[in-house]
Amino acid sequence: MSKNIFDVIIIGAGSVGLPAAKSLAEKKMRVLVLDAQASPGQANAKKAIGGIRATHSDYGKIRISLRSIEIFAGMEEESGYDIGWLRNGYSFPAYSEKDEKTLKNLMKIQHEFGLNISWISPEKYNELVPGINMEGLRGSTYSPEDGSASPLLASNAYYQLCLERGVSFRFGEKVTDLKFNKDSVEVTTDSDNYSSHFVVNAAGNEAREVGKMAGLELPVYPDCHEAAITEPVKRFFGPMVVDMRPAEGSKNYYFYQNNEGQVVFCITPDPPIPGTCSESTSVYFPQIARRMVKLYPRLANLKVRRSWRGQYPMTPDGFPIVGFPENLPQYFNLVGMCGQGFMLGPGLGELTARCLTATKNDDDDRILASFAFNRDFSGTEAFK
Ligand SMILES: Cc1cc2nc3c(=O)[nH]c(=O)nc-3n(C[C@H](O)[C@H](O)[C@H](O)COP(=O)(O)OP(=O)(O)OC[C@H]3O[C@@H](n4cnc5c(N)ncnc54)[C@H](O)[C@@H]3O)c2cc1C
Repeated sequence: MSKNIFDVIIIGAGSVGLPAAKSLAEKKMRVLVLDAQASPGQANAKKAIGGIRATHSDYGKIRISLRSIEIFAGMEEESGYDIGWLRNGYSFPAYSEKDEKTLKNLMKIQHEFGLNISWISPEKYNELVPGINMEGLRGSTYSPEDGSASPLLASNAYYQLCLERGVSFRFGEKVTDLKFNKDSVEVTTDSDNYSSHFVVNAAGNEAREVGKMAGLELPVYPDCHEAAITEPVKRFFGPMVVDMRPAEGSKNYYFYQNNEGQVVFCITPDPPIPGTCSESTSVYFPQIARRMVKLYPRLANLKVRRSWRGQYPMTPDGFPIVGFPENLPQYFNLVGMCGQGFMLGPGLGELTARCLTATKNDDDDRILASFAFNRDFSGTEAFK
């Protein structure tokens, strides 16, 4: 058999491509991962700040993230790789009647799906986030089972786990063409040719370009987000804090203290900044620092170590596109991860493996319906 023939070729060694490769190899598939970058996790995977929550607003994301949390939480014990997992929880404090109502309504749906999330008083919230600005605080959601991990360590762990399971990788090769035959797909890169039974599009920012190679018009448009990390300090607050209130130039922003004591933070620009430029700007720091210190004055003395900019590969409704499109049984979409590819990755990896090995369960079809390519994209995810 030629060295270039595989059961599955995954385009993209990122947040979702790596876990998918591991899960497929565990199903005894011969897997090749192709990536244009020089090593795994070099595009948006390493830009994520590491937040992992199941407290979403729809069935698909909730189910997938619950499974991801199980996988992340058990990773060190099962495989020996420390990924910096911390079950620190998530919180959405409310400072207006409107936000309180929105969050409480969403909690009804989240409770229907069995999520552990509750409404806590301002006093209780002040115990979790001591010194938080209490002026006008009406309470907060708190979901203690959500958590965080290091995206850098997780990419490395997944890469090692893939190698241990026999996955092949070719780095520095950009996929330039796909040709579909009756029983195989020919994958052309800028330096070689490969053949496989299935091809998985996990190309993140470039999902649309790769989709075009399969004749698809995928609505995935990256937009830019900046983040930063401080020096490590002794743990002084618990959960991820998501401040939903908009301000000039931005929507929500969020921050947490990771397992090494560093505070990591990120903001959602408004209007969105389309494109793939990853140069840090002079706008981000003044914009977020002012907001963070007003909300939580204790942050004022922290020293910031570095900042970075990356993208969310966005879809119009904020949900990913996952599954086989109609009439393309050899091509699988694993794209449009928006701001949640890190937390969705492990669960989606397993789902992908079940789809490609015809071992789906009843629940999978309900999950896939949330992420179908042929949906109308008119909905809106509550917290993209
Ligand atoms: C500042 C910031 C903070 C974030 N915080 C979080 C967070 O807390 N939690 C969370 O879940 N998510 C977060 N995200 C979002 C998360 O980073 C993305 O959703 C996720 O990385 C997307 O995963 P992906 O695998 O689709 O893409 P990527 O990880 O970008 O991987 C795609 C890969 O495909 C390769 N590729 C593309 N085209 C080709 C081609 N033609 N040939 C070969 N290779 C190709 C690329 O080189 C790349 O390595 C954050 C993002 C940013 C920017």
